[in-house]
Amino acid sequence: MTWTVHKFGGTSVADASCIRRVADIIGGQRRGNNLAVVVSAMKGVTDDLLGLVEKAAKQQPVEATLKTLRTRHEKANLELLGAAGAKSIMAEFDRDLADIESILKALALVRAASNRSRDLVSGYGEIWSARQIAAFFKHELGKGRDVMFLNARDVLVIEHTEMGPVTNWELSRPKLAAAIPSAFHGVAVITGFVASDKDGLPTTLGRNGSDYSASIFGALLDADEVHIWTDVDGVMSGDPRQVPEAKIIDEMSYSEAMELAYFGAKVIHPQTMAPAVGRGIPIWIRNTFNATHPGTKISASSGSRAAAVKGISGVDKVALVNLEGAGMIGVPGTADRLFGALRDAGVSVMLISQGSSEHSICFAVREEAAEQVRTVVERAFAVELSEGQVQRVGVTKGCAIVAVVGDDMAGMPGSAGRFFGTLGVAGINVRAIAQGASERNISAVIDAKDMTRAIRAVHSSFYLSAKTVSIGVLGPGLVGGTLLDQLARAAPTLRTKFNLDLRLRAIGGSK
Ligand code: ASP
Ligand code: MG
Repeated sequence: MTWTVHKFGGTSVADASCIRRVADIIGGQRRGNNLAVVVSAMKGVTDDLLGLVEKAAKQQPVEATLKTLRTRHEKANLELLGAAGAKSIMAEFDRDLADIESILKALALVRAASNRSRDLVSGYGEIWSARQIAAFFKHELGKGRDVMFLNARDVLVIEHTEMGPVTNWELSRPKLAAAIPSAFHGVAVITGFVASDKDGLPTTLGRNGSDYSASIFGALLDADEVHIWTDVDGVMSGDPRQVPEAKIIDEMSYSEAMELAYFGAKVIHPQTMAPAVGRGIPIWIRNTFNATHPGTKISASSGSRAAAVKGISGVDKVALVNLEGAGMIGVPGTADRLFGALRDAGVSVMLISQGSSEHSICFAVREEAAEQVRTVVERAFAVELSEGQVQRVGVTKGCAIVAVVGDDMAGMPGSAGRFFGTLGVAGINVRAIAQGASERNISAVIDAKDMTRAIRAVHSSFYLSAKTVSIGVLGPGLVGGTLLDQLARAAPTLRTKFNLDLRLRAIGGSK
């Protein structure tokens, strides 16, 4: 039986009415496949649980938070299952609560919170959420199909590595196979976020880890698709706070999604996708609160060839560092020493650019690391600086990186020209440029104050949005007034038919 994974985040399961909506969505899916429904804790519960651990370690009172958590879950359970149905769920809840209380007491005694206690306690939110959703599904969707609750801690084994948590597939696969009855046909509600380590100790995939859970279960179950249900319609071509014309991207490739995610499109974290990407499983971003919207499909293919550029994004609070000197020309190992020193200092580099003259290397880092970076680089090149082979280490704060992303830019002349041409016309100075050989991303470092303007200009130049024409009307009398009426009537047609966006910006009388 083929599986499809559906993941619902904390806002999607925040209360009883949200959970009903989730049941409607799941009930509306084709019946052919088995469905794995991976859920987060109700919104805010993980924060509360982690807060409890910190409070206990400081010997602060925890009763109020425990009570709020209980009331919240009880209310949802009562609304979903009625008094009789809620009873057994709440009995389990109270057993968990008693365990949590014992842990908190122990933490208060030793006045310290360990990672282990944090991992254990913070995972209860997903268990409560999945348990109540499974019970409700049984009640609501159970006619003619199986519904089961699956605690990921019983099947998912992970290891914590330098790159973050990774799945132990050899151990997890057989455990999962054993947990799901072979004749199973229906819906399995699975806890997101939580897992066990090799020794069977409870752990988690880290904050916001449920998307990662969904992708891992997609791979473990050989799912045909993974749907991430969240509270936006999909991945957008730009940040709507910066670009009001930004639109939902219907289809994009994994690489495009990763590039855009890095630059602030926070819909999905790159690492999260890896297990699905490895098996070519398409990931859909869907909106729980607007379920008829098709959302964004992220797969191996970039999809429509309508525009070379899929999205435009920007990050600010960036500092540009420039290392310059005649002594670097033709000297092997300069870059190695530079970036080696930064690695040793734990600084992540966002963008690198070196011209072929090798007279200078420049790179971008987060602004907050700027002073540390200056010290690190000055130390690494102390000898060259004192002997004048390296003239200076220049640090410019207050920068931003603007990037255009799209697989179809590869091998297509003119994308860079249009990008920089647009910035030029807008009067925006470009401080540094980087484009990798994949040609999937072109980035420019500019002054942070120009960022929003740059993103808007570039967005409209790549025809992601209609061409905007701003109009001012002076003299709204008989003629002017008629013109205003005509503009209002014509605007929608001009927009849809001719991709022309008329905006009335000012009206002035003779006074
Ligand atoms: N509940 C967890 C958190 O808030 C995991 C998740 O929601 O993805 O971090
Ligand atoms: Mg979340």
